[in-house]
Amino acid sequence: MDRIKNIKQLEEKGKVWDIAVIGGGASGLGVALDALSRGLSVLLVEKADFAKGTSSRSTKLVHGGVRYLAQGDIALVFEALKERGRILQNAPHLTYNQPFIIPIYTLFDRFRYSIGLKIYDWMAGRLRLGKSRFISREETLMRLPKIKKEGLKGGVVYHDGQFDDARLALSVAMTCDEMGGCMVNYMKVTNLLKDQNGQIKGLKLRDELDHSKYKIVAKMVVNATGVFADKILQMDQPDAPKSIQPSQGIHLVLDQGFLGGKDALMIPKTSDGRVLFAVPWLDKLVLGTTDTLREKAKLEPEVLSREVEFILDTAKDYLSEAPTRKDVKAVFAGLRPLAAPKEGSTKTKEISRSHKVIVSKSKLVSITGGKWTTFRKMGEDTVNEFSRITGTQLPPSNSAQIRYHGFTQSPQKGHWKGYGANASLIQEWIKDKPELGQKLHPAYPFTMAEVVWSTRKEMAMKVEDILSRRIRILLLDARAAIEMAPKVAGLMAQELKKDEKWKAAELEDFKKLANKYILK
Ligand SMILES: Cc1cc2nc3c(=O)[nH]c(=O)nc-3n(C[C@H](O)[C@H](O)[C@H](O)COP(=O)(O)OP(=O)(O)OC[C@H]3O[C@@H](n4cnc5c(N)ncnc54)[C@H](O)[C@@H]3O)c2cc1C
Repeated sequence: MDRIKNIKQLEEKGKVWDIAVIGGGASGLGVALDALSRGLSVLLVEKADFAKGTSSRSTKLVHGGVRYLAQGDIALVFEALKERGRILQNAPHLTYNQPFIIPIYTLFDRFRYSIGLKIYDWMAGRLRLGKSRFISREETLMRLPKIKKEGLKGGVVYHDGQFDDARLALSVAMTCDEMGGCMVNYMKVTNLLKDQNGQIKGLKLRDELDHSKYKIVAKMVVNATGVFADKILQMDQPDAPKSIQPSQGIHLVLDQGFLGGKDALMIPKTSDGRVLFAVPWLDKLVLGTTDTLREKAKLEPEVLSREVEFILDTAKDYLSEAPTRKDVKAVFAGLRPLAAPKEGSTKTKEISRSHKVIVSKSKLVSITGGKWTTFRKMGEDTVNEFSRITGTQLPPSNSAQIRYHGFTQSPQKGHWKGYGANASLIQEWIKDKPELGQKLHPAYPFTMAEVVWSTRKEMAMKVEDILSRRIRILLLDARAAIEMAPKVAGLMAQELKKDEKWKAAELEDFKKLANKYILK
């Protein structure tokens, strides 16, 4: 992906895009992918980096949602299980088939979770990832060596998908770019353009890096801005009612040794009636999440102390070695773009996780709600509106069959897996120029070559883009990320032809940001 080349397309006189997508998170990328699969021309603009918002802050599950099954949201679970299977098929380099174990303490729990998960297996049909089954106390303790033993009767194992959310977003963005889509990060929509009948006809854009301004024309504009959707809706109609209720979820990242083994732990009922996961991810353990209503949409939401205490308290009841604040390597928060409830209910877990496509009077199409797992189907449902808006017949969607950039059936092991087929190309660079093989940090495997790769090929523009969303270290170990930053800034400055002033500003910005990921 070449940002300069893509921006040139914004300057083409008389160019009319079929679809302009606002937002480079899971929802916007799903729309772009589906539209390109039907032969439409697509521009996607993202005001920060791809997946800077909620889409890099998930629990990392590609799942049908066992919890939604318990809540009786059968249609959502069917849809999500189908999409789960497709993501695992189309991105084997970014996904894992992850076994989860629910610890069992009563006969009733054994009965209900065994039945419930059999139904979950059956609903996945031929896209099932493995059979659920009850396992003995001995097997549970062998597979989850750090689980508390008192009262434990056994466990129920089931399978779901696990993924690298930000790298999947990048991989889809690169797939779209290869299919002819014009993908631009750090390009903010500052206003909507309308014709004399008040119908949306395009966008006003501002480059967040050099402040250049652009105007583009499109037949259909899609608002896929997650928790920011109301800001765009208010550009369309200043008195538009609130449609989004942000709900915050935080995660704590610990050393994997706190759980031991390769299986994930699922706690089906916490003291606030939610589920809590402890999931092995990139050699660490991700613990979460919470569900806290927030008023404001923010790209960097603040972690609340009571959320941290809640997760640590819940973990303490299940793990033999209770993690404490000082064991936390990183903490991150994300905002769920839930559809605002009709009558002001405050219980977010009762707000449906299914998505909604809304078309305003001026034909602004907004896609809200949903989950990462269903991003492609959300895109398909949104692009279906194109025929109604433009009166043009569209071919059926073909996005379910598209393999994502880097696809390979046999990805390499360890951190190289996430690059898929590109891993060997990066390793070729290291062979040609051995200094690129130097590690960015003695405790982690990431190399200088990856920084160069991400800057040249993956549109990384800032130090944060590399450390947070290309190699994920900010979310794995925030202190180590700060230690790596000077090397990353130096390499990026060379690649992007930036001066010392740029480097100093980048380092200061990154340090300020990374401090928010460290628990004091
Ligand atoms: C704590 C938590 C855990 C979750 N776990 C899971 C999980 O395990 N599995 C799962 O399937 N789902 C999960 N989800 C849900 C999933 O992460 C979200 O549904 C999904 O990421 C939302 O994507 P989005 O594109 O709608 O929003 P975002 O990712 O927030 O993207 C919107 C983008 O729009 C951009 N934008 C805003 N305004 C403008 C503008 N004016 N111009 C240009 N760009 C703009 C923003 O910068 C942002 O990048 C979780 C959510 C949370 C909060």
